Amino acid sequence: MCGIVGYIGHKKAYPILIKGLQRLEYRGYDSAGVALISEDGDLNVYKAKGKVSDLEACCEDKDISGCAGIAHTRWATHGEPNSTNAHPHYSASGRLALIHNGIIENYMTLKEKLVALGIPFKSVTDTEVLVQLIEHIMLSNELTLLEAVQVALHQVIGAYAIAILDRKHPDTIVCARQSSPLVVGLGADGDFYLASDASPIAEYTDKVAYLNDGDIAVLQPGKELKVVNIDNETQHPKVKQIDITLGQLEKGGYPFFMLKEIFEQPACLRDCMRGRINVGADRITLSAVIDYREKLINARRIIIVACGTSWHAGLIGKQLIESLCRIPVEVEYASEFRYRDPVIYPDDVVIAISQSGETADTLAAIELARRAGAFVFGICNAIGASIPRQTQTGVYIHVGPEIGVASTKAFTGQVTVLSMLALCLAHERGTIRAEHYKEMVRELTLIPAKLEKALESNEQIERLAPIFTYAKNCLYLGRGYNYPVALEGALKLKEISYIHAEGYPAAEMKHGPIALIDSEMPVFVIATRDHLYDKVISNIQEVRARGGRVTAIVTEGDTQIQKFADHIIVLPDTLECFQPIIASIPLQLLAYHIAVCKGKDVDRPRNLAKSVTVE
Ligand code: GLU
Repeated sequence: MCGIVGYIGHKKAYPILIKGLQRLEYRGYDSAGVALISEDGDLNVYKAKGKVSDLEACCEDKDISGCAGIAHTRWATHGEPNSTNAHPHYSASGRLALIHNGIIENYMTLKEKLVALGIPFKSVTDTEVLVQLIEHIMLSNELTLLEAVQVALHQVIGAYAIAILDRKHPDTIVCARQSSPLVVGLGADGDFYLASDASPIAEYTDKVAYLNDGDIAVLQPGKELKVVNIDNETQHPKVKQIDITLGQLEKGGYPFFMLKEIFEQPACLRDCMRGRINVGADRITLSAVIDYREKLINARRIIIVACGTSWHAGLIGKQLIESLCRIPVEVEYASEFRYRDPVIYPDDVVIAISQSGETADTLAAIELARRAGAFVFGICNAIGASIPRQTQTGVYIHVGPEIGVASTKAFTGQVTVLSMLALCLAHERGTIRAEHYKEMVRELTLIPAKLEKALESNEQIERLAPIFTYAKNCLYLGRGYNYPVALEGALKLKEISYIHAEGYPAAEMKHGPIALIDSEMPVFVIATRDHLYDKVISNIQEVRARGGRVTAIVTEGDTQIQKFADHIIVLPDTLECFQPIIASIPLQLLAYHIAVCKGKDVDRPRNLAKSVTVE
């Protein structure tokens, strides 16, 4: 949640910070702010409720000079989104300014102590406690900023990525992380960049250091990057080369990132399979499975932990792995799993799925699983994020940065990786016939071309969308592999159009939701040709008999369903287990076009943020 950007060097900081905030705006966007040390040596803080553009408007007549600055887009956890609660927060004397991503859990206790000492607070955030605590420690003990941060962080419980500017030391930014992401970019001229992820840094340098939990970094232009921990022991974060192109970070002519990312899916899934499926398309090689073969093929059970869309991908993964590998699989919400007392065996394999690789609940679930001795495998998109660093092995989905808050290409990438993993493990375990394995691998390589075909329904869906804009509720039905697709379709609609929607296994409808059906209720049924096809037809009839309006997603050549559906959307045929990848496309497009018709800001849905780094 929230985006942090910082710059210190010889260039003007303000334009770099604003551009960086725009790149990070998908992480949180209820308010934004910037702190700059001006040419005259002042520490100026400007903040605005709303988007980065509102901050820019507020800065129009202000002094935005200076080569050192920090900036923030907020996703409020404590205190209403207004300009007072927006970051950066000044210290009581006005000497320090601080930005923060995360939650300070013991802020009340700390605040009470500081208030008792007469230190005034302006905001109601948990964050302000940090800046007041650090300054109080610094001034009362005559410590340097770094020393004060070290002492203060000993007292702090919670999750944070912070960055601090000190008016008296305009050549320094001090930053630190614990459970919230922070990346330092090393510029060619000895300057430093700082951000929550690499996207705002990528256009200036390809050399980045991903800070680890407990790291405190001191950024001083022209000097080596200094990293220590709270006990002042030197740390050595790895400096990595990143490979993000500017094109990946921009909309490329599309009105919204979400639409761009929907249309990128054929190319993304080719990237996802590249180097993993050989040219003859008869074999899948995943280095994680080569390196940890015994551990993986002898798993007593697999537990998939994930949140949101990744959890839906996990539900598809369960069906794939159980049917192909004959290993029992459980799929858990990471946020529930971490606070239960789950039974975890040392021969369990826990698969953690997260697009950002920073999802706080999933990271906590990984920690729990590791402590119980399980082997932990990560599936994520962001290179170098916390999940790949905290799991024993894993597979990147390699679909490129996903900026749209409603996940699209990451979902199909996750399902593609889970398909490759299931096939690979089944092959190694001998639970799949050689011919069947080859046939499935070949079919998987055809999926990107079939997605191109599925995307041809875009115009038809755009025309259909206005019919659904007045709906208050929608129902999504599917069975078998298509049940998680129904859940994901409903989630997409809720996220960006704010229409209430539910996904249900089609046959379960009789046990409750059928009572909701009337002529006002659009029902989307995923009715592709599979072994449950006839059953789904009966479910459609049940909806029709109650006056429900049915839009069916069907396989090309289907002649039956059009007789009783109000609308049909046709998809290319594939194997049943790969159908979710293709069937997701029209549902993504439906949600997108309905939201656009309703005039919603698709890339910045209200109350949401892209990477959920708070629990
Ligand atoms: N907890 C802090 C606040 O509510 C930071 C939230 C964020 O990560 O944006 O201000």
